[in-house]
Amino acid sequence: MKKILFATTNQGKLKEIKSILADFNCEIVSLKDEGIDVQVEENGRTFRENARIKAEAFAKESGLITLADDSGLAVDYMGGAPGVYSARFLGEETSYDVKNSYIIDKLKTAKEEERTARFVCAICCVMPDGTVLETEGKIEGLIAHEPAGENGFGYDPIFYVPEFKKTTAELSPDEKNKISHRGRALSAMKEKLIHMGCL
Ligand code: IMP
Repeated sequence: MKKILFATTNQGKLKEIKSILADFNCEIVSLKDEGIDVQVEENGRTFRENARIKAEAFAKESGLITLADDSGLAVDYMGGAPGVYSARFLGEETSYDVKNSYIIDKLKTAKEEERTARFVCAICCVMPDGTVLETEGKIEGLIAHEPAGENGFGYDPIFYVPEFKKTTAELSPDEKNKISHRGRALSAMKEKLIHMGCL
């Protein structure tokens, strides 16, 4: 069975990719499963660059087909912030209640049509022979006027999806996976891996 490393320590992301690739004869392993404990500096300027930095570093470390992702929230009224700094925005240790309230406050002066935002996810796959595959997924939405919902994580309570009339924190995990930036980027990567004969 083919072994694929998904370079993450996030159990939620691992579960998501395992479910998307469930119908294939491959084993998805994590950094922990492989006993890899190496810090990689995410100093890229884009999600794509950061995903590639991680995938290349961990492919070199593991010798396996390696997938890595990078994601975040881009708010148009804030010039695309927090963007690649989504996890570090206002400080890594700052709670998302505080981060989310800050963003809502920043948009107090925004007109309704200026509340647009998107979640973006870039995925990079590096093969042992050095071949690189890249995909990106997006979900468009609006910054809510107040947080709502208990599901998901991070910025989900303030990310309103007009099509569902709900924030992504009010969607069930299955509903979110179907439309999310990460779900879309992973499905596109699955197609590329099939095309390459890796699955
Ligand atoms: P990373 O891709 O694990 O580096 O995550 C970057 C950051 O983007 C997370 O810590 C969250 O702040 C934010 N983020 C990424 N995807 C989501 C999502 O699906 N919901 C809410 N926040 C997200």
